[in-house]
Amino acid sequence: LPIDNELYKKLEAIVGEQYISDSDLDRVCNSYDATKQRSLPDVVVRPNSAQEISEILKLANENHVPVYPRGAASGLTGGAVPLYGGIALDITRMNRIIEIDEANLMATVEPGVVIADFQNEVEKYGLLYPPDPASNKFATMGGSVAECSGGLRGIKYGVTKDYIMALEVILPTGEIIHTGRKTLKSVTGYDLTKLFVGSEGTLGIFTKIVVKLIPPPEKIETIRAYFSSIKDAADTVSAIISAKIVPRTLEFVDEESIKAVSIYIGFSVPENTKALLLIEVDGSAETVLKDAQIIIDISKNNSAFEVEKAETEEEKDSLWAIRRSISPALYAISSGKVSEDICVPRSKVTQMLESIGEIGKKYKFRIANFGHAGDGNIHVNILTEPSIPGELDRAEEAVKEIFEKVVELDGTLSGEHGVGNTKSKYLSLEIGHREMKLMQDIKNLFDPNGILNPGKIFYNKEIEK
Ligand SMILES: Cc1cc2nc3c(=O)[nH]c(=O)nc-3n(C[C@H](O)[C@H](O)[C@H](O)COP(=O)(O)OP(=O)(O)OC[C@H]3O[C@@H](n4cnc5c(N)ncnc54)[C@H](O)[C@@H]3O)c2cc1C
Repeated sequence: LPIDNELYKKLEAIVGEQYISDSDLDRVCNSYDATKQRSLPDVVVRPNSAQEISEILKLANENHVPVYPRGAASGLTGGAVPLYGGIALDITRMNRIIEIDEANLMATVEPGVVIADFQNEVEKYGLLYPPDPASNKFATMGGSVAECSGGLRGIKYGVTKDYIMALEVILPTGEIIHTGRKTLKSVTGYDLTKLFVGSEGTLGIFTKIVVKLIPPPEKIETIRAYFSSIKDAADTVSAIISAKIVPRTLEFVDEESIKAVSIYIGFSVPENTKALLLIEVDGSAETVLKDAQIIIDISKNNSAFEVEKAETEEEKDSLWAIRRSISPALYAISSGKVSEDICVPRSKVTQMLESIGEIGKKYKFRIANFGHAGDGNIHVNILTEPSIPGELDRAEEAVKEIFEKVVELDGTLSGEHGVGNTKSKYLSLEIGHREMKLMQDIKNLFDPNGILNPGKIFYNKEIEK
């Protein structure tokens, strides 16, 4: 429903004139996320407290106006895109680190805090917040809790859900609730905190987030290994895992991605490089040196033809340069790339990569794969040229076939980017009818009028673009 003058004035009375706008500029700036989909909100509102969000949601709920929470809008599945217009709720003003509790190794933050800013702050206290999405320099804590972001250190340290202890949440009806405790153990009642983590802004809006912190490791070693076949690289991943070493990162980069980065940052790799592994181990100085040597030996035993170990911080940085540049490099060669973030059991990564290769050939697409091989989480990028007629339809067929294979291999359609609206159509491939109905019932219970982030997770043919 459009926001009439009376409703606009009521919203203005809550946040103040400066923090509400229906100008074209503000509406356009709040219409998209990293998927590049666009849909204009009617109004942009920038609250500064839980109380303000509560009042906004009460009003929206009474008037059946859609509300779309957004952090940095770096989501890759359309989570923050205001598909039905209404209110774009920008939470980035709420960016205070409320407490770093050294006695309990926990911290409390507001949702608009940028992840890297928080990580840098806790570092000053000699502590580590491990969830580390590659977007940490701009993505917000609230957005990462809503997506249950993963990242580079997932293999050893887990993902966002493993660090969220308690939440303050505003329900779509405007009620303010608190879930979880600042304790390491709590089994009183259902775990509502976990239900909210990964709920993609559809069940409630987080206004306070309590996270667990850990002491950082003493030492980190960084290794880059070059392979002349994807299979050798994938076999190395399996061999490292079987050797019972848990690296802090175990990243995989394929030939297409390497080629794109070579052009983008002028990086040259030895001829015949078909895959790279970037591996980091951490822990006590003694263990790390031992583990690094075992990893180098395993890589060589699995036909790595070159292995580099960084000796200085600069060298570490240079080993990481290729991994960091993949996303922009792929955008540079294919502005219409279709990106998915499938996850399969780790033992099935090789099989999955082979199938992706076959599907690429069948649909005549170059496909660039990279990602968190240690977690079985592969970022699949179909390089398309949207100006070619029929290209995007063909890409969609290829995506469907990839998803079918993922499910056949006991994998999941999304390891870390969520469903949003871009994957909702395929959800039933993985989730059974009864389970889907339960999820819908939960959504209806929290949000009886369907005002919070409508059009996400659950498929609605009407809004397909
Ligand atoms: C270059 C690049 C690299 C990336 N790398 C990774 C990666 O390694 N791992 C990974 O997991 N993801 C990655 N992402 C995806 C994305 O950055 C993460 O999902 C991130 O956590 C989203 O944060 P955000 O602040 O941008 O959220 P937004 O995109 O603004 O929102 C994401 C979702 O959260 C909801 N939301 C936002 N704030 C709140 C709140 N306070 N309460 C409730 N719901 C809220 C929104 O409605 C939306 O549904 C990457 C993205 C890019 C562009």
